[in-house]
Amino acid sequence: MSAPTYDLGKLHGGLRLEARKRQSTESPIVQVPVPGQLVLPITQHAGDPAQPIVGIGERVLKGQLIAETPGSLSAPVHASSSGKIVAIEPWPVSSRFGQKAPCIIIECDGEDRPIEAVEEAPAYDSLAPEVLLARILRGGIVGLGGAVFPTAQKLMQAVTCDIEYLILNGVECEPYISCDDMLMREYAREVLGGAQILLHALEIDTCFVVVESDKPEALHRLGEVLAELDDDRLVLKLVPTIYPSGGEDQLVQLVANREVPSGGLPTDVGCLVQNVGTAAAIYDWIFHNEPLISRVTTVTGNGVARPVNVEARLGTTVANIVAHIGGYTEDAKQLVIGGPMTGKSVTTDSVPLVKASNCILVISERRDGGAEMPCIRCGDCAAVCPVQLLPQQLFWYACADNEAKLRSHGLTDCIECGCCDLVCPSHIPLTFDFRMAKARIRELADEKARAERARQRFEARNERLEKEREEREAELAQQKEDAKKAGADAIAEIMKRRQQKDEED
Ligand code: SF4
Ligand code: SF4
Repeated sequence: MSAPTYDLGKLHGGLRLEARKRQSTESPIVQVPVPGQLVLPITQHAGDPAQPIVGIGERVLKGQLIAETPGSLSAPVHASSSGKIVAIEPWPVSSRFGQKAPCIIIECDGEDRPIEAVEEAPAYDSLAPEVLLARILRGGIVGLGGAVFPTAQKLMQAVTCDIEYLILNGVECEPYISCDDMLMREYAREVLGGAQILLHALEIDTCFVVVESDKPEALHRLGEVLAELDDDRLVLKLVPTIYPSGGEDQLVQLVANREVPSGGLPTDVGCLVQNVGTAAAIYDWIFHNEPLISRVTTVTGNGVARPVNVEARLGTTVANIVAHIGGYTEDAKQLVIGGPMTGKSVTTDSVPLVKASNCILVISERRDGGAEMPCIRCGDCAAVCPVQLLPQQLFWYACADNEAKLRSHGLTDCIECGCCDLVCPSHIPLTFDFRMAKARIRELADEKARAERARQRFEARNERLEKEREEREAELAQQKEDAKKAGADAIAEIMKRRQQKDEED
């Protein structure tokens, strides 16, 4: 194994934040038992909801497919344990800040019986890449770094591009969150095995395994497994701990020294980024036939009695998880799913753990924002923006609802990292405003698409009616012609008979 390397590109902006990760990394990952009830949202990924294929009262086994993809951008959902489907109904979810969304609810039978594989899967490296990708699609695997983009579809898009590097993202730069660190310490074999599967699927020969320099234990364990694997396609890279160096585009800049163009993707510059948790999930699916039904998540903050990382089944409620590790403290005032910079505050702990849940943060107060004041044009927000945007200008355009200017000033490139509001002396909630502006732009785009589809349907209907009218007219003309011909024939026949009769007489 070669020594980890530091040859890095330059990251613009960013912040050095207090890590606050020690509390949750002092003990090993805690396994949370299967609860009495699991709540599985049908949307745990970017794209369209999965479609339930089970009915109420039906018995299911651990790992059984319970909601399938509708054929568009989506990911299937599997039962996280065995039991009975007792409801398919709206339930509070973290992706909607605690508002309800459709969920499949399983009453567990306590047996945790797995579904049996129909047949033994062949070795992954004997499969053609497209066969391997189709298999990954069935595992319900999504990007576990937070974006939850369906992994198979991301890979399918990547194989159409000229990819040179796979970048395995073990950079966990947001304060408090340590699930990837613990995963690399305890599941390094699965992480690197997943990377080897990905290299085969992508038909490429270089994977950078990227870790921050403040994670010596993870680095040590990865190094040990790399030595065992003796696979020189896997190269360890160290990066400094700067937030948000774990963002996809920022990582590509740091590791491959390539700039992802505005509105583009890492694949545009020959790179594909996958989270270490995603790689481990691929390994579990391909080697152990276990779809994505559990994950490691950090439970931390001064609001929990014992900050720690846990591994729990998807669908386990936050209430169940926190109860298992000793409950809340009297400081518990706010519940955030995700980190302090990008997480979502929720109002109830009945939200379930989902594929995106990398952290359960319970704190006394999220951030001492202070009263919002007018922008003083200090420029601090622009200095820290890792995407080199001008947040103060975006803010004006967001206030004015100026979609064209927001687009031309790169709003869609904003990664919502929160650096700008953290430094803003006027306490302007810039990231929140940008998130809302993006949502409005998406709504407008959806509306336009809907209007376009309606126009196309209207035109198609008119075309069809016109065609039908023309066909009817042609048919009528033909009938007339036929009748005319039939009449002429009949007259000719009569005339002929009359002539025959005259001749006979
Ligand atoms: S940091 Fe705040 S006050 Fe300063 S320019 Fe940006 S938005 Fe204005
Ligand atoms: S939230 Fe957006 S605008 Fe603000 S610093 Fe991050 S990327 Fe830049």
